[in-house]
Amino acid sequence: MQLKNYIAGQWVAGTGKQAELLDASTGELIATTSSGGLDFAAMLHYARTVGGPKLRKMTFPERGRMLKALALYLMERKDKYYTISYKTGATKADSWVDIEGGIGNLFANASLRRTLGNMPFYVDGEAIKTSKTGTFIGHHIMVPKEGVAVHINAFNFPIWGMLEKCAVNWMAGVPAVVKPATVTSYLTEAMVKDIIASGILPEGALQLIVGSAGDLLDHVMHQDVVTFTGSASTGRMLKRHDRLIDESVPFNMEADSLNAIVLGPDAVPGTEEYDLFIKEVGREITLKCGQRCTGARRILVPQNLIEDVQIALGKRLGSTVIGDPRAEGVRMGALAGKAQREEVKRALAELLKASQVVYGDLDSVNVTGADVQKGAFMSPILLLNPDPWKNQQSHNVEAFGPVSTLMPYTDLDDAVALTKLGKGSLVATIATYDDKTAQQFVWGAASHHGRMLVLNRDMAKENTGHGSPLATLVHGGPGRAGGGEEMGGKRGVLHYLQRTAIQGSPTGITALTQQYQQGARYHITEQHPFRLHFEELNIGDTLITEKHLVTLQNVEDFAALSGDRFYAHMDANSLDGTPFTGRVAHGYFILSRAAGLFVDPPKGPVLLNYGIEECRFLKPVYPGSTIQVKFTCREKLDQEKRPKTADSPKGADVARGIVKWLVDVVDETGETVALATILTMVKKLDQK
Ligand code: NAP
Repeated sequence: MQLKNYIAGQWVAGTGKQAELLDASTGELIATTSSGGLDFAAMLHYARTVGGPKLRKMTFPERGRMLKALALYLMERKDKYYTISYKTGATKADSWVDIEGGIGNLFANASLRRTLGNMPFYVDGEAIKTSKTGTFIGHHIMVPKEGVAVHINAFNFPIWGMLEKCAVNWMAGVPAVVKPATVTSYLTEAMVKDIIASGILPEGALQLIVGSAGDLLDHVMHQDVVTFTGSASTGRMLKRHDRLIDESVPFNMEADSLNAIVLGPDAVPGTEEYDLFIKEVGREITLKCGQRCTGARRILVPQNLIEDVQIALGKRLGSTVIGDPRAEGVRMGALAGKAQREEVKRALAELLKASQVVYGDLDSVNVTGADVQKGAFMSPILLLNPDPWKNQQSHNVEAFGPVSTLMPYTDLDDAVALTKLGKGSLVATIATYDDKTAQQFVWGAASHHGRMLVLNRDMAKENTGHGSPLATLVHGGPGRAGGGEEMGGKRGVLHYLQRTAIQGSPTGITALTQQYQQGARYHITEQHPFRLHFEELNIGDTLITEKHLVTLQNVEDFAALSGDRFYAHMDANSLDGTPFTGRVAHGYFILSRAAGLFVDPPKGPVLLNYGIEECRFLKPVYPGSTIQVKFTCREKLDQEKRPKTADSPKGADVARGIVKWLVDVVDETGETVALATILTMVKKLDQK
């Protein structure tokens, strides 16, 4: 079978020399592939002109729903991907990270639709006052780039590698061209076939290259973004590509990293943290046969515990059953191929110049359910580097397989300094139950790490592990790790958006952001705004309320009702040295009374009060002052109708949206005394 590339709406077989893709455990031929003869310039052009415009027209909620639909669709087909994944040498647990971890990224990014606003672009932060009287203000919007996200991925996670990146660029409104590493590209291809067949993505949102990248990068342009996951040497070479420099194309690199795991000084044998540490390290060495960018390559242990740890790890690794991942009981599969095993052995030879093997066999391994000669099997290898300051190979050479090095440290400062010899890593972990130790380590070493995990008994049950990046947290690291930053929830999406400062009058900026800005023109509606349905409300629709005279009795009554008898409200003799000149009304009374002024009581389209987003009390209100509210529709956020389920609460299937209101409470001088944004849930006219 020959794999096909997906280009400009067509499945195309590459011409010329074919790469042979082999089963990692049996050596059997799975498929051949090539990207020869493809017109990469046309491919990028197609993404920019066909996929991009369609994605950019969609709002964030629409893109989020698209990701969710895709995630559900792929979950239904996951068994198929597991079957194929075994061929890469991955066990069921390894494949779970790749397949369901990847689909999980789609779900997690889909959920961002509730936080990115209702438009095809994102409004970043708050307005900035840039003039004395406020007639000239600034703001920031972030619009989708009009280019392509080009993803060049490593071989170890053929699905997760694609989905963790595409989830983000699709959410941002940018199409993707994915180029998985050739050796495991058959798994990526199988999923892309399903994605395309589903019709869930707009045409042009995804194209696939199965084979070498050829001259792809010669055709990237200034609106494109290139991401790379793989070895530092390839990454550095690509980063220097003339075209990337000439066109100022952002290049996000996730490369090799010598991640460390540290046994805290308090985590001595007999503590829960010690046991957790041994378990975590064992898992790190064997999971995915050690082929994880986040793998714990350096194990730092107090010098007096080196022997204990060495024995405990040896025991743990010794119980790992290695073999064909399809065979019963196998916990560690094969490397992705024999070429990868040769790579690992080359790196091991470097490491052995300064370290000795304390567990494992370099040349032989017992396997279950497989012919050891045919598959890319390897024994887990634990090395010991007794002098990690003198022998620095352990901090510089990555063996991308089941290989880690044990090293002693003298005190915690020494451990922090040793982790930094890795010159930048994706992740570091410390096992400790002591907050001071955790602080010293994390605060000391965070500058050199993209993510840090504190492992202890309190989180152990729900711990996702040293090696698992999470969709909502940043993945990437400084220095050797490439300087990249992926995922991280909203942070990831922003990489694909252009941030543009916008300047103008409050009315002008309201029109551009679709968020009401203070001082902008407003429109007093004929009906009370609470009588209007979601679709009938416009940004800037305003109610000017009746007035209320604040009295001392109000203060007394509110204190009695709420129980808040703070001295500034109750005791006129206690105000020396305070900002107050008399008994001041409670801020919460002002806001509550404001609600009494702006709320329209009869049943109508407003379903409920959803909360308060910001609230500031800006000027004291004393009895005798008069308050009045300017109540303005600030922003509208669409919500989807939840499907009816047995356990969904009554009314959950009502079509509605969230309306944010600016509550501007002024006193008799016209000055603002309190300012808040409140949220209401408002029914739609259209209940379909
Ligand atoms: P690699 O050899 O650097 O390849 C990575 C990707 O780059 C592959 O898709 C490869 O395609 C492509 N590539 C190679 N030469 C290229 C060129 N001249 N132009 C354009 N693309 C080119 O790395 P790998 O062996 O697949 O992955 C293992 C390495 O990746 C390890 O060192 C590991 O640490 C690192 N890694 C890092 C992370 C992370 O997030 N930091 C994650 C996973 C892996 P072909 O397959 O077609 O050659």
